Amino acid sequence: MIAVVGSINLDLVVPVPHHPLPGETVLGGELAEHPGGKGANQAVAAARLGAQVAMVGRVGADADGVRLRAALEREGVNVRWVLAEQGARTGRALIAVDRETGENTIVVSPGANTALAPEHCAASGTVLRDASVTLLQQEVPAATVETAARLAGGTVLLNPAPAREDQAARADLRDLLDMVDVLVPNRTELAALTGRQLPDLHAVAEAALSLRGPSAVVVTLGEDGALLCEEGAVLLVPAFDVLPVDTTAAGDAFCGALACALAESRPLHEAVRHANAAAALATTLPGAQPSLPTRDEVEKLLGH
Ligand code: ADP
Repeated sequence: MIAVVGSINLDLVVPVPHHPLPGETVLGGELAEHPGGKGANQAVAAARLGAQVAMVGRVGADADGVRLRAALEREGVNVRWVLAEQGARTGRALIAVDRETGENTIVVSPGANTALAPEHCAASGTVLRDASVTLLQQEVPAATVETAARLAGGTVLLNPAPAREDQAARADLRDLLDMVDVLVPNRTELAALTGRQLPDLHAVAEAALSLRGPSAVVVTLGEDGALLCEEGAVLLVPAFDVLPVDTTAAGDAFCGALACALAESRPLHEAVRHANAAAALATTLPGAQPSLPTRDEVEKLLGH
């Protein structure tokens, strides 16, 4: 079983001809609403690939909260520990997607996600102790992420997203990294974590290998795939060749699929290939959760 402790948001998505500069107004297209949030996306990504998934999270005491909880349940995610926070609004993400390139910019209003407290991890019974993989991100309070990592009985996978650039965040994260087995940053997050510029793959590998704590670091590299850094060795696992229309949730698809493969006790390099396939497919459809692929789709791309 995979436990996900993380965020649940409603995504409000608008296609744009180009991203607005500060002070600029851009006329976008039709607004779409989808279930989202890094935690929920990763939970659904793993569930669609056939994993048993339990989620620990908070929604607001509002209609969107009811909707998002039901959406997770429909995907087969155990939502017993997804509760409504009185007096809080459900988290929302405002997402602009470039019509030409599929590139997105996102503003998150976390709402009820900020109420997910360390004691809620303990209150979720033995779910974290029993999970073979616990999957974490940074869209809920840092103390909660740390408690979840401490209570986890299996492999701890941390996606340090969204990136936090401040010094305090970097200090917080050092303690957390000691409890993390597999760290999955993208390039921006790795740069923020290490305080380094990462002009090329060599710098990316050096930065990943400089991190103390995790036994492996998997850096996602967009269309270049992912770099697996483990015990001083570095392996570039290439991306699948697809035509991306919307890269929202590519990283979430990657993390969910990686957790799924690790829960099936697959070797890490094979799990990264599986994750590249799921993430590539997620870029070929618009939206976050609607774009997450099924097991059959991933197996087909992998040529199985
Ligand atoms: P994030 O979405 O978190 O910024 P990346 O951009 O690194 O993360 O993408 C995550 C993963 O999605 C990559 O490691 C890769 O497997 C897949 N991916 C992203 N963009 C593409 C693309 N253009 N073609 C194929 N795969 C892609």
